[in-house]
Amino acid sequence: MILILKQGAQENEIEPIRQKFEAMGLIIQEIKGENTRMIGFAGDTSKINEDDVMVHSCVERIMRVSEPYKLAGRKFHPETSIFDIMGRKIGGGEFAIIAGPCSVETEEQIISIAESVKSSGANFLRGGAFKPRTSPYAFKGLGLEGLELLELARKQTGLPIVTEIMSPEYLEVFAEKVDIIQIGARNMQNFTLLRQVGELKKPVLLKRGLSSTIEELLMSAEYIISGGASQVILCERGIRTFETTTRNTLDLSAIPVLHAKSHLPVLIDPSHATGYSNLVESMSLAATAGGADGLIIEVHNNPEKALCDGAQSIRPEAFDNLMGKIQKIREAVR
Ligand code: PEP
Ligand code: MN
Repeated sequence: MILILKQGAQENEIEPIRQKFEAMGLIIQEIKGENTRMIGFAGDTSKINEDDVMVHSCVERIMRVSEPYKLAGRKFHPETSIFDIMGRKIGGGEFAIIAGPCSVETEEQIISIAESVKSSGANFLRGGAFKPRTSPYAFKGLGLEGLELLELARKQTGLPIVTEIMSPEYLEVFAEKVDIIQIGARNMQNFTLLRQVGELKKPVLLKRGLSSTIEELLMSAEYIISGGASQVILCERGIRTFETTTRNTLDLSAIPVLHAKSHLPVLIDPSHATGYSNLVESMSLAATAGGADGLIIEVHNNPEKALCDGAQSIRPEAFDNLMGKIQKIREAVR
C-alpha cells in the first residue's frame, strides 16, 4: 500500500502515521520525489482500514498494491481450488450443474423435477424454501416445510441440495439439512450473515450482488472463508445496468476476471441473469465456452403455474436438450 502525501506535508503530520502503522507490525518506507512525497507500507496490509489512513489530513490518496482479499485471492493460494461436495467435484475444469425450480412448491413438484434433472445429468438440486421477494405480498417460499421436501427429494434421487438462507435464525437447521448453503444476491453484503454462515464450515454458494463489483464479491467471499468455511463457490447472476430488455445484464467477463483474481470456482446463473427462458440456452453455452466451472439453472415442470420466476424457468425437456449441447461445447473447448 502506498500513501501519496499532499504537497507541503509536514514531518509532525507524518510521524503519527508512522507510529500508528508500525505498531500494527508494518514496515514503513518513505519515498521522496522532487514534488511528491510517498509512504510505502509493507507487510499484511489487508487489515488496514482506509478510513484510518485518510483521517490524516496530509494524505492525498491511497494506492493498494495487493488485494485486500487474502484468503479468496489467488496471490497467496495460487493453485485452483477443486471442491469435493458429497462426491461431486467442482472447480478447475470439473463442471457442476445445479438445477431445479426457483421455489419448492409441493412434494410432487420437487420430486418430479429432481428426478428429471438427475436423469439429464444434473449434479445438484436447487430449490428455494425461503425466498427474497421484492413484493411483501408475493409467495415467499414454504419455509421449513420446503427444507423437508428438499430432504425428501435428496433421499429419492441422491442429489445434494442447494438452498438459500435469508436469516441467522435458521443457521442450525441449515447446518443440519442443507448440503450447499446459498447466499443470495440481496444478502451478498449482509456481513453478519456471511460470517455466521462461514462459521458453519459448510459449502457455500455466494451470488454476486445486483450492483456489486468483482472486488466486493471477493470481499464477501473473504468474510465467509475468514469465518471458517473453505468451500466457497462464486456465482455471477447478472448485474444492474441501464439495459432493461433483460432482467439483468450477464457479466460473462466475470468468469476469466474471477479466475485470474481468485482460486475459487465460478458458476453462471443464466436464469436470473436474463429473466427469460428463451435466453437461458445461449447464455449457458456461452458461459460453458467461456470457462465457467458450472451452471445453476432454474427448471420447472409447469412454468406457467410456477409460484416464482416462471418466465425464466426452462422445462425438463429443454434442460435435457441443453445438457447434450453443454457436453458438446465442453468437448470442443477441452
Ligand atoms: C434464486 O436463486 O432463486 C435467487 C433468488 O437468486 P438471486 O439471489 O441471484 O436473485
Ligand atoms: Mn429464482
